[in-house]
Amino acid sequence: MNILLLGSGGREHAFAWKMLQSNKCSKLFVAPGNAGTASIATNVAMNPNDFFAVKEFVLNSNIEMVVVGPEDPLVNGIYDFFKNDDLLTQIPVIGPSKLGAQLEGSKEFAKEFLVKHNIPTARYQSFTKDTVEAGCEFLTTLNAPYVLKADGLAAGKGVLILNDLAEAQQELKNMLVDAKFGDASSKVVIEEFLDGIELSCFVLTDGKSYKLLPTAKDYKRIGEGDQGLNTGGMGAVSPVPFADAEFMKKIEERIVIPTVNGFQSDNIEYKGFVFIGLIKVGDDPFVIEYNVRMGDPETEVVLPRLKSDLVELFQAVGAQKLDEVSFEIDERAATTVMVVSGGYPEDYEKNKVITGLEYVTDSIVFHAGTALKDNEIVSNGGRVLAFTSYADNFEDALKKSYSSIEKVKFDGMYFRKDIGFDLK
Ligand code: ATP
Repeated sequence: MNILLLGSGGREHAFAWKMLQSNKCSKLFVAPGNAGTASIATNVAMNPNDFFAVKEFVLNSNIEMVVVGPEDPLVNGIYDFFKNDDLLTQIPVIGPSKLGAQLEGSKEFAKEFLVKHNIPTARYQSFTKDTVEAGCEFLTTLNAPYVLKADGLAAGKGVLILNDLAEAQQELKNMLVDAKFGDASSKVVIEEFLDGIELSCFVLTDGKSYKLLPTAKDYKRIGEGDQGLNTGGMGAVSPVPFADAEFMKKIEERIVIPTVNGFQSDNIEYKGFVFIGLIKVGDDPFVIEYNVRMGDPETEVVLPRLKSDLVELFQAVGAQKLDEVSFEIDERAATTVMVVSGGYPEDYEKNKVITGLEYVTDSIVFHAGTALKDNEIVSNGGRVLAFTSYADNFEDALKKSYSSIEKVKFDGMYFRKDIGFDLK
């Protein structure tokens, strides 16, 4: 079948790589894609948020499945757009409905869902411009550090964690009254700080049943020791060594099952991935956030560990028959190390020629911000390449990722040398 994949990052290159292993995938288009997806599939210069253009392409190119990588088209309602045109039965869209996507699009919606379904999460209240004084008062009932979250999408920057009460109260005003994050902070969730270690769990669901994908841990900060500015993610490890069978059972029973049951009881159509951001407090898992798509760079370690046919799984998701397909995970560990442009996540230069990729033999290189220019591969974003490797343990996998990176060069390239440092 012909498949259209939306997105352009390392996540989408990993999706493309995995779907092309299926004999059910005859032709794969990626919109807009990058130099990596261009090397294995057909890139289409199209904005994934232009649903009319997407639909026209789907109909003209006999596309039989649409797979959505990033959150924006989902939050903007691409699933509903296809549903309203009665196309979903022939052309499944892998992703949640617009209502389901609110789990990522609105932190308040997510918190209400969590509380309603008795899923463990931090205590919270939400506030608007009209209730800013009550918000300042609520902060005095909490202990430091204070967690303030813009309700809407704020490109990963909308969460502030502050140690000082007066500063937290001032920032609350900045968010609500001065629109620090624009519309995204017209509502703010204030929640209790949870002290623990983070991990992510990934679920593929058809809205009724689910498959639990491997866990992963990502490294968000630019600097070693997880210091400095937040990034999209500098590397990831799967599985997470401290998520043993007993802990996973708690995650499944207390979080995954109630989440999927919640979709059904709340009439939320959901045929896609749920990315559950967790924090382990003592021995117990708490939900920090839901995302309605896979993570990047987590996809670059999770999908390589999936042995099953991803296209077959997606077909089963579309038909709500996920419980009928087999599902197998590779026991080996996978790691990925992200190589970024110098200066990222602040200003950086693009168009740096990347050389040496042909010498990499021990890792899979997933392209993130790359483009083809005059037959050369050049950098085209902050995060440029993800080096994924397998081994019996994550330490050996990391050694392979790092030795592969040595073979590749571009001006100003930077990567963290300590991915997995806290797991040893
Ligand atoms: P991202 O885009 O990075 O996934 P986000 O903007 O959607 O993040 P959250 O994931 O809710 O927002 O929060 C960002 C980070 O803030 C979390 O990864 C976590 O480190 C920290 N955090 C959020 N809520 C809490 C909490 N209640 N207690 C402790 N830390 C928290």
